[in-house]
Amino acid sequence: MLKAKKPKPKKCPICDKEFIPRNTIQKTCFSSSCSLEFVRRQNKLKDEREQRKQAKLSRAEIRKRKEKLKTASDWNKEAQSAVNRFIFWRDYGKPCIACGKPLNYGVRGGAVDASHYRSRGSARHLRFNVFNIHAGCVRCNRELSGNIIPYRINLIEKIGIERVERLEQDNSVRRFDIEYLKRVKSIFTRRARHYEKLRKRYLEAA
Ligand SMILES: [Zn+2]
Ligand SMILES: [Zn+2]
Repeated sequence: MLKAKKPKPKKCPICDKEFIPRNTIQKTCFSSSCSLEFVRRQNKLKDEREQRKQAKLSRAEIRKRKEKLKTASDWNKEAQSAVNRFIFWRDYGKPCIACGKPLNYGVRGGAVDASHYRSRGSARHLRFNVFNIHAGCVRCNRELSGNIIPYRINLIEKIGIERVERLEQDNSVRRFDIEYLKRVKSIFTRRARHYEKLRKRYLEAA
């Protein structure tokens, strides 16, 4: 004969009184107002969970709709800024690629430019090429159009003459469609974060 386990006393979650439950599924004491209140609270929790789920769904939906409205030019900008962000963290601490002066990495989006060796205007197909982009000062990049003569000397030092010449001779025609731009954005966002973490860990250890 199976003997039912003697139920242990429980504390009612509503009124805090101790009671001996009839069975294991009894959650509250024998007062009906406690069991009603318990059900009410359970339902409220369920509703809240449901609402959070809906809110999350609609946020995803809104994001999806926004993405659908983006043009190739929007994606291009976002891809470029992800690449530039990657360059910032990759070159973190290095001087201006052209004039060699120290750069102020403490200020994001001002003191350090992502300077293209072959400009975005004349070599659009190289605008995401990481050998073609290096951290530079605002003066060299914007006022001196890259300050290309010392840029070249230092670039050879940094990546080697073969790569520099390959860049200079690369005139291939490339079309970047939206799918490609999205991929560039997501890959470089990830790589930028990775480098950012590495740099910060290094700075904290120093
Ligand atoms: Zn109770
Ligand atoms: Zn400079």
